Amino acid sequence: METKRPDAAARDAALEMSGDEFRAAGHKLVDRLADFLGGIGERPVTRNDSPLEVRAVLGGDGMPERGSPAGPLLDEAADLLFTHSLFNGHPRFWAYITSSAAPIGALADLLASTVNANLGGWDLAPIATEIELQTVRWIAELIGYPTTAGGLLVSGGNMANFVAFLAARRAKSGDAVRTEGICGRRLRVYTSEETHTWVQKAADLFGLGTDAIRWIPVDARLRMDVAALERAVAEDRARGDQPFLVVGTGGSVGTGAIDPLPEIARFCSREDLWFHVDGAYGGFAAALPDAPEDLKALSLADSVAVDPHKWLYAPLEAGCTLVRDPQALRDTFSYHPPYYQYSANKEEEPVNFHELGPQNSRGFRALKVWLGLRQAGREGYVRMIGDDVRLARELYDRAAATPELEALTYGLSIATFRYVPHDLKGDASANGYLNDLNSELMRRIRASGTAYVSNALVGDVFALRACVVNFRTTREDVASLPPLAVALGREVDAELRPSAAAGRT
Ligand SMILES: *Cc1c(COP(=O)(O)O)cnc(C)c1O
Repeated sequence: METKRPDAAARDAALEMSGDEFRAAGHKLVDRLADFLGGIGERPVTRNDSPLEVRAVLGGDGMPERGSPAGPLLDEAADLLFTHSLFNGHPRFWAYITSSAAPIGALADLLASTVNANLGGWDLAPIATEIELQTVRWIAELIGYPTTAGGLLVSGGNMANFVAFLAARRAKSGDAVRTEGICGRRLRVYTSEETHTWVQKAADLFGLGTDAIRWIPVDARLRMDVAALERAVAEDRARGDQPFLVVGTGGSVGTGAIDPLPEIARFCSREDLWFHVDGAYGGFAAALPDAPEDLKALSLADSVAVDPHKWLYAPLEAGCTLVRDPQALRDTFSYHPPYYQYSANKEEEPVNFHELGPQNSRGFRALKVWLGLRQAGREGYVRMIGDDVRLARELYDRAAATPELEALTYGLSIATFRYVPHDLKGDASANGYLNDLNSELMRRIRASGTAYVSNALVGDVFALRACVVNFRTTREDVASLPPLAVALGREVDAELRPSAAAGRT
């Protein structure tokens, strides 16, 4: 029987686009994206639709049997996203730590996915691999970490911390941990109570269990108590446990607190412990000329996690692990399967990123980061990050100067505060009520569509939390939040305490 190989035109593959079709759909999409970015500040930050309302927009249809033309589909997808999204690029979005995304990053993603390099192996991605290596070196240089470090890009802060955790586990317990697992080894991790939940996920995923974490208390400024750390390690050693890793935080997710990294570094080097710094939020602030010395000491760590999709303003997703000893990543992740026969090069071994991290096939997330670093330069980043820090400070000061607001904490680019009605000022017994009031106030601010904040728990105080990692935020934007919080705070208080409101009038 004769089989005929179809030629490209005759084949008519359902996903292929002609040059003209791609050009027309692309131009239209780029025009719409430019309009969207130009007007982002005029939209509500979010519509606050319920999950049911949003699900209803899509309807319950099954998978389409027949395809549709690309252009109208893209148009419709743009309509959906522009209407039913929360816009973290809005100038008054200050929740969590999600930055405004650099527009060049969006164009970089289009370029990267069109060429579609696979950065698992050098042969599959020659220039892309070299760009990622240069990006990693530049990130190290920007934050003052040795540029001889090894590293790679991953999906975000969690993954960047996981990669470092695994490198520490391998480095401190030997190669056998890769074949035998951790069985029998009572490995112990030390970190402060303010550490992000990635550390629980890591202890769980990588076989230690969350009981292997020693939660070190914090001082009044929410920084790790190093004397308590020293005691915990000594107690565990006396018990026959195996301390291997201390995690310091360079900018906590709640309030931007920075652990005393220089002291922790000295302790780890004395005790032969792996010192990792979670700089997912604050790491890039080490680039500021007036960065706190405690933060700059991330340069002393065995590994650092930073998050380009936070303070480098890269579009999601991009995290980055840096490891002082580049061999440590290879020791942790390298295998040589028979199905990878890359070209040997006598002068220089090419870097195959699948040997340096958990992923096999890898996309070109480095391109958006690399182009952002080149578009802004060090000077541009120092200005944007410094402005974010000054705006958060200004918000804190404005809250402090507003009679019905109580300013609570300020760290890096995070300000926390709460609404306190006049008659409850200084009334310690009112804290439970104030927590309820401020938690409803947070919802009310979000529902207004004009600003978007999250919360932090400062001791037992529910605080409104604004984190400025947003190059679109202006001083006017920041100035608008205290009056909004007061107006809506009065409204909520009047609803929750009608009798007190009646007594005031
Ligand atoms: C954001 C953050 C993480 C998690 O990073 P993702 O990019 O969300 O995975 C971890 N640690 C700190 C300190 C963070 O701020």
